[in-house]
Amino acid sequence: MARHFSLPKLVVATHNRGKAGEIRAMLHPFGVEIVSAGELGLSAPEETGTTFEENATLKALAAVQASGLPALADDSGLSVHALGGQPGVYTADWEGPTRDPMVGMKRIQEEFAKRRVADTETARTATFHCVLALAWPDQHVELVHGTLDGTIIWPPRGLGGHGYDPCFQPVGMKRTTAQMTDDEKNAISHRGRAFKMLVEACFR
Ligand code: IMP
Repeated sequence: MARHFSLPKLVVATHNRGKAGEIRAMLHPFGVEIVSAGELGLSAPEETGTTFEENATLKALAAVQASGLPALADDSGLSVHALGGQPGVYTADWEGPTRDPMVGMKRIQEEFAKRRVADTETARTATFHCVLALAWPDQHVELVHGTLDGTIIWPPRGLGGHGYDPCFQPVGMKRTTAQMTDDEKNAISHRGRAFKMLVEACFR
């Protein structure tokens, strides 16, 4: 049974204003005041974990330690099955030093070519992952893990979303996640699912 969250204030361990705003809106009905790590001037820890769970946990606990408040952190990425689950926790690193998603999408295509992966929907399957870690000041951590299964397509399609969305087509759909509105994507996405699970487990 997950621990219920009943404290008045929560740090969101992100420096991304958009992400902090989304989380603030989502937790608004539960009367929780949200402050972001960016607003508190907290530095981001190095992501040294080898799993999404480890990275989300270390980010949440670093924010707890620095602020004395409970904290929520997320870690996400894309696992391509024919590449042994890569890039996985290194998804952002594959975007190169300038963090250009096109660099990461091209790298996946290069790896497919190297391994002679067939250009079919069944050979090029992948899963988006999002893990959320909610940590309390006594170091207790609750974790939830949302996923979205799909196929890597090429060339990229769509201008919405972010990151690898233009080359990711969810199972049973004809559009990439970059060809969906934010609401359409959130309703099915790994992140949307993880947030729903967290709300059910700790806030209701
Ligand atoms: P994080 O900020 O460390 O969680 O980095 C996650 C990486 O996964 C970044 O490279 C993102 O571009 C990518 N990523 C995570 N979620 C999504 C998504 O919903 N669409 C596309 N790319 C994503």
